[in-house]
Amino acid sequence: HAKALGKNTFQFYSKELGEEQEEINRLESELRKSIQSKTGLQLHFQPKIALNPNRVGGFEALIRWTLENGDSVNPEKMIYVAEQRNLIVPLTEWIVDEACRQNALWQKNNLIKVPIAVNFSGTHIVREDISEMIVSALTRHGLKAEYFEVEMTESSVIDSSKGILESLEKIRALGMSIAVDDFGTGFSSLSYLSNFPITSVKIDRTFVSRINQGNHSAIVTAIIHMSHALGHSVVAEGVETQDQLDFLARENCDYIQGFYFSKPLLAHEVEAFVEKFSA
Ligand code: C2E
Ligand code: MG
Ligand code: MG
Ligand code: MG
Repeated sequence: HAKALGKNTFQFYSKELGEEQEEINRLESELRKSIQSKTGLQLHFQPKIALNPNRVGGFEALIRWTLENGDSVNPEKMIYVAEQRNLIVPLTEWIVDEACRQNALWQKNNLIKVPIAVNFSGTHIVREDISEMIVSALTRHGLKAEYFEVEMTESSVIDSSKGILESLEKIRALGMSIAVDDFGTGFSSLSYLSNFPITSVKIDRTFVSRINQGNHSAIVTAIIHMSHALGHSVVAEGVETQDQLDFLARENCDYIQGFYFSKPLLAHEVEAFVEKFSA
């Protein structure tokens, strides 16, 4: 069952089955309340740095959830509960709306004009055409499609059903970009890299973290070359050290994301980061 759910689903391994169900039930009802009342939900934004010359090239929106008692819930666990209990669509609607609102505001205030990326769960993409939901948020906030990016994991694209392909093609035709997240961790065929209308590949941080361990760096190099050959740009995830950055820059990686440049930030911290980075 764990395999069918894909790599990114949070597993409650340490718990007994009854206890696990109880916790999921509790989180489900809390999440339902949070979505309805729009409380306890917040987006953080992690910069993507474009190299040569270094500049802020985009942001990724990441969900944060705080319960009424003040505890925060691990995002992967939260997404797992949302997927399991039919809350992924309304939750993602809130995330998309909030990401568009924030990016439109940054643009209106002349802070920066770059795309904002939102993560979409595979179960959601399989279930429905997400393009309409995104377009209605873009319209509501007056944000151009070129400033919105869809992130999805490999495991969600391997189901190459016609519906998904059409939905992604619509998204591309509107001018949005599409990134494959956590690249290299799925067990899918590589054929989708040329068949799917994607614009960038995000190298999973497990590969980035092993860059200085002998032949592991060969994988990173190969991913970069292959992606470029197919016309996709490359983002390295989880970049934490100068050595990793130097290696990736040498290999012509296009974007760097990770604690080396910045952890995910609150909206007001983004403003300070952009001003400092541009100076
Ligand atoms: P992801 O989309 O691959 O996001 C990257 C994760 O790596 C984030 O964790 C981020 O905080 C973390 N990270 C970034 N730089 C570094 C680094 O240098 N070192 C390390 N160790 N970690 C780094 P986060 O926010 O806990 O999210 C975990 C996962 O939960 C995400 O992986 C994504 O799959 C899911 N997720 C988060 N927000 C959302 C959302 O709004 N919607 C959906 N569907 N999934 C989300
Ligand atoms: Mg992501
Ligand atoms: Mg990732
Ligand atoms: Mg991930």
